[in-house]
Amino acid sequence: MKLAKRLERLGTENAFVTLAKVNKLREEGKDIIAFSIGEPDFDTPRNIIDKCHEALDKGMTHYTPSAGMLDFRKSIAKYISNTRGIEVSPDEVVVVPGGKPIIFYSIMACVDEGDEVLYPNPGYPIYESVINFVGAKAVPVPIEESKGFSIDVDKLEKLITPKTTFMVINSPHNPTGGSIPRKDLEKIAELCIKHDITVLSDEIYSRLKFNGKHESIASIPGMKERTIILDGMSKTYAMTGWRLGYGVMPKRVAEAVAQLVTNDASCTATFTQLAGKEALEGPQDGADHMKKVFAERREIIVSELNKVPGFKCHVPDGAFYVFPNVTEACKLLGCKDSRELADKLLYEAGVAVLPRTAFGVKNADEKEEYIRLSYATSTENIVKGIARIIDYVKARI
Ligand code: PLP
Repeated sequence: MKLAKRLERLGTENAFVTLAKVNKLREEGKDIIAFSIGEPDFDTPRNIIDKCHEALDKGMTHYTPSAGMLDFRKSIAKYISNTRGIEVSPDEVVVVPGGKPIIFYSIMACVDEGDEVLYPNPGYPIYESVINFVGAKAVPVPIEESKGFSIDVDKLEKLITPKTTFMVINSPHNPTGGSIPRKDLEKIAELCIKHDITVLSDEIYSRLKFNGKHESIASIPGMKERTIILDGMSKTYAMTGWRLGYGVMPKRVAEAVAQLVTNDASCTATFTQLAGKEALEGPQDGADHMKKVFAERREIIVSELNKVPGFKCHVPDGAFYVFPNVTEACKLLGCKDSRELADKLLYEAGVAVLPRTAFGVKNADEKEEYIRLSYATSTENIVKGIARIIDYVKARI
């Protein structure tokens, strides 16, 4: 069967490749400790599950409008108004199955072939994939350790050309856990306004920021009208498998995105949307508890990782990822790059991590090596897993 040419431009998410490797090793009876998975290891809070049961029992099993149920969009509009300090109306909200579809839909809706699109590198791999898929030029913006894993605004400015129409930012950031301080967001906003650039602001980790409050670029004067906020339930409420997220954007864009939903999924599952409303409006104890546990684990994993010879790990500001610099460890172990190190850790030490290259090819002047570990796993696993890495490295130097 013939496959369309455009598929040659579509990328993927390598975390799923590692997941397949981990599953295969486990099937073979190997004991693997996985730091590779980017999803909370908690159950969805009970009140949310109960609301979903209730919705099913009440027969909420039919189509909803493509943009989502008005009631749910109202609660999202209120939530975003309160948390981002901007006025949002329900017709500026589109509900979708997960946060991810907002990446696809917003780029489909706003980016033309030949446009240049800025995106963070390292970064969530779907940005680059979708930018290429629509025939635009993907222009990586380096996210560097020396800048606290924020954006170097001077470098960013140099990447803007007359063809730049769209920019993706992600704060708190996957894979580094870094976040963009307000002063940098203000400078980025200035550039976007000056050069008429639309921003996709991926804020899926907005509730997992540990130092200070989450800042959205949409709250900077002049930016709400050129920003698409991506957020959702997956990470905050441990609802990855429910597939529930949303975008907040100017009404004209929301209508276009809803039209894409009509052409694709028709709508997001009805009972899931009712559960989502409960997530936003009901008790927040579950989400608060998870955040507290993540904060505790963050301290532990950073302190343990800094005991590994050749590892240097900063305390990240948000999400549930750490991104240690492993340049020295690669040298000590004779690995040519982080991919080789990740493979050795998986097959020889029984620990799954993701190499830097799972988040895009290295930037032109990037010399250092990194790996990503997700601490969305138990404290016991963290201690045991990092001890394995310590023993493995120590035995070989
Ligand atoms: N954006 C970022 C930065 C992510 O890390 C993820 C998931 O890992 C998503 C979006 C997608 O989230 P969802 O599972 O809600 O589609």
